Order: sequence, then structure tokens, then C-alpha cells
Amino acid sequence: MTSAKPHVIIIGAGVTGLTSAYFLADAGYDVTVIAAHVPGDESIEYTSPWAGAHWRTSATPAEPTICDWDVQTFEYWVELLEREGRDAGLPKCGIKMQDSYHFWDTELQEDLWWAPHVKDFRQLSPLRDPVATINDSSSNKDDAPQIKWAAACRAPSINVPQYLLYLQSQARCLGVQVIKARLPTDAGFENALLSAESTAKAHGRKKADIFLNATGLGAAKLCGDEGMYPIRGQTVLVKGEAKATRTRNGDGYVAYCIPRPGSGMTILGGTKEVGNWSEAADPETTRLILERNRVLAPELLTGEEGGFEVVSVQCGLRPGRKGGTRMEREIVGRRRVVHAYGHASGGYQNSVGSARLVLRLVERSLDGDGVRATARL
Ligand SMILES: Cc1cc2nc3c(=O)[nH]c(=O)nc-3n(C[C@H](O)[C@H](O)[C@H](O)COP(=O)(O)OP(=O)(O)OC[C@H]3O[C@@H](n4cnc5c(N)ncnc54)[C@H](O)[C@@H]3O)c2cc1C
Repeated sequence: MTSAKPHVIIIGAGVTGLTSAYFLADAGYDVTVIAAHVPGDESIEYTSPWAGAHWRTSATPAEPTICDWDVQTFEYWVELLEREGRDAGLPKCGIKMQDSYHFWDTELQEDLWWAPHVKDFRQLSPLRDPVATINDSSSNKDDAPQIKWAAACRAPSINVPQYLLYLQSQARCLGVQVIKARLPTDAGFENALLSAESTAKAHGRKKADIFLNATGLGAAKLCGDEGMYPIRGQTVLVKGEAKATRTRNGDGYVAYCIPRPGSGMTILGGTKEVGNWSEAADPETTRLILERNRVLAPELLTGEEGGFEVVSVQCGLRPGRKGGTRMEREIVGRRRVVHAYGHASGGYQNSVGSARLVLRLVERSLDGDGVRATARL
């Protein structure tokens, strides 16, 4: 039996594509996801599995839309966790509210607009723990930086491989079909959409009413967006779950530890290298990440000679875009497209607000000729 619901083909199965798939299916759309990489895969072309990740907004008050996406996502995750807490039978999403510490080696220069939106936000005195201990443990080195400003709150951290699998399974429960396939990028965007349609057809799916382009950095090739660039992040996965998320904003560097809930492991970071496409981990960067995290996560120094027990070292490419995230409608040939890519450093914390905007853009696109009306049947 063919479905009367409008059919959305989503290209991309990262956090952007899968969250959008879930929200669209939940709103009554028939959804097919086509992606070269799906949850469980690891590739430098697939950013989502390499994220930390935690809710720590990087948006500024000059970006009200992104601030709003981040707040929406925070609130959605809190509700999700409350539902999980009430019903032990629900699948586990891999997100946990953690104590989250933020340290600055300089006096505070950023606008903490997000403070009222997280749980239990409070400023910390540099003279008391945990800051005092961190500063003391560095004080034997003359040139070691000292923390000058600090704050704490409670915020979500995300076991990203688990969350991606969770999103995929939740979407599948709503009838979303996920097809693993790479679309061609050598003959133009319209040709890629055609190819997506024949791939879907080969899997028994009907013609698309609209496409969602959620290809992250892949949009550079898929639709020829020359504004796309990588923001490379190198991280180290170590054994043990840190007791809290800790982020240190140093002078010219950032160091962080993010426990991956339920995995028995923690991600240590990290770098933000604009324009660097390299997949190979740099040993000197690894050394610096481990050194800076010794004082941030001493409870993880369980290895030989008091070091970390390193599981792996990896790099991911955040999808940066000149002009910011692309969220807009386009007609390509005679096909309707919504774009949702270029979420840079915030794809997880943006995800719910971004997916809700995708839903509105899809509705507006289809409203043009009444196709959307059937979505509500
Ligand atoms: C080290 C690191 C730490 C991070 N920490 C955080 C954090 O703490 N909080 C946070 O919110 N964010 C964080 N991020 C950013 C976040 O990971 C990204 O913003 C997000 O993963 C982008 O997701 P996406 O779905 O847009 O793209 P991707 O995950 O890259 O997904 C793109 C999808 O498109 C598919 N695709 C591309 N081209 C084609 C094609 N031609 N044919 C078929 N399929 C195609 C791919 O296969 C893939 O499925 C971090 C990133 C890194 C690297």
C-alpha cells in the first residue's frame, strides 16, 4: 500500500539528518534517509561520531537564532531524561546531566547569556576548590597558567555513538527507512537528487515530494557550496568516566574532559583548527591534550606511571561555513529542497531547534501547492 503522506528524502545520517528525520516522521511525514555513513560507521567524512559531546553553547548574543536552538535542545533533553527516569522500560539515549565546570585563565570576557538556561549556575571562587587545587597543582611550574575566573552548572553530556544509534532507532520506530548509499558529486546537485530518488525507488520508496540536504561538510561537494570549511578537532579517548565535564579556556588553547555516559570512557580535547583537513593525529597535539588534562581530570590518571589509559586518538572535521549555518529552501530544477548544514561546533546542541526549523521550512515549501495538507491526514 502506498502512503498518502508527503515523502521527504533526507540526505545525511549525522545528528542533523537523524534528528530532523525523527521530528518530520513524528509530524506525519513519510521519511527516507540516504547516507554514505550511518550510525556505527567511522569516517573522517562523518563528523557526528567524533564529537565530545556536551551542551556548552558556542553561540553569542549576536546569533539569537542559534542561542534559541541551543536552549530548545537543552530543554528537550531535560524532558527526555525525565521521561527516561520515570519509565525504566524506555530505551536509553546516552545523555546524562553532569556537573559541568568552566574555567578561564583570563578575567571573564565572554557574555554568559546562557547562565539562566542551564541548571544550578554559580560563579566559583578561584580561592576555593576545585579551582584552588588545579591552581596549586600547577604552581610548581613558574610559567604555568592560573585559572582566574570559574563557574559551575549542571548540563547534559552525550555518549555520541549511543545517541546516534538511539536517534536512528527512534526514527525507525516511526517508520523512517535508512538506506546506506553514497550519492554522486561529480555531475551537479540536481543529478545527485535524481540519484537519491532512484536509490529510494530501488528500496520500494515512492517519489520524493521534497529533499532535505543534511550533509554537513559533504555539502561542499554535493551542492558545490564553496563556503564550507573544516574546523578540525583532535581528541583522545581514555579509560574511566570523569566525575564531571570540565572545560578550560586558556590563553590560545582550550582543554576539556567530557565523560561519555555509560561507556566507562572520557573524551579529552582538544583543538579547533580552521581549514585543516588532515585525518592524521598529530603526536605533539596528543601530548599537549594529555598534559593539560592531567590537572583537569586527575581521577583518570589510572595508567602506568600515573598517566592516562589511552584507548584511541582521533580527529573530526566540524562543518564550518562562511556566513553561518545554511537553513533555507531552494528549488533545484523542479525539485524542492531544504538545506540544513554547516552547524560547525554546535551540531548536537543545535539539533532540536534546527530540526524544528527544518519542519517549518518543509511545511512552507509544500504549502505552495497544497501537498502538505495530506501530512495531517
Ligand atoms: C572534536 C569535536 C567535538 C565536538 N563537540 C561538540 C559538542 O560538544 N557539542 C556539539 O553540539 N557539537 C560538537 N561538535 C560538532 C558536531 O559534531 C557537528 O556539528 C555535527 O556532528 C554535524 O553533524 P551533521 O549531521 O550536520 O554532519 P555529519 O555528522 O558529518 O553527517 C553528514 C552526513 O551526510 C552524509 N553525506 C555527505 N555527503 C554525502 C553524499 N555525497 N552521499 C550520501 N551521503 C552523504 C554523510 O555520510 C553523513 O551521514 C564537535 C565536533 C568535533 C569534531
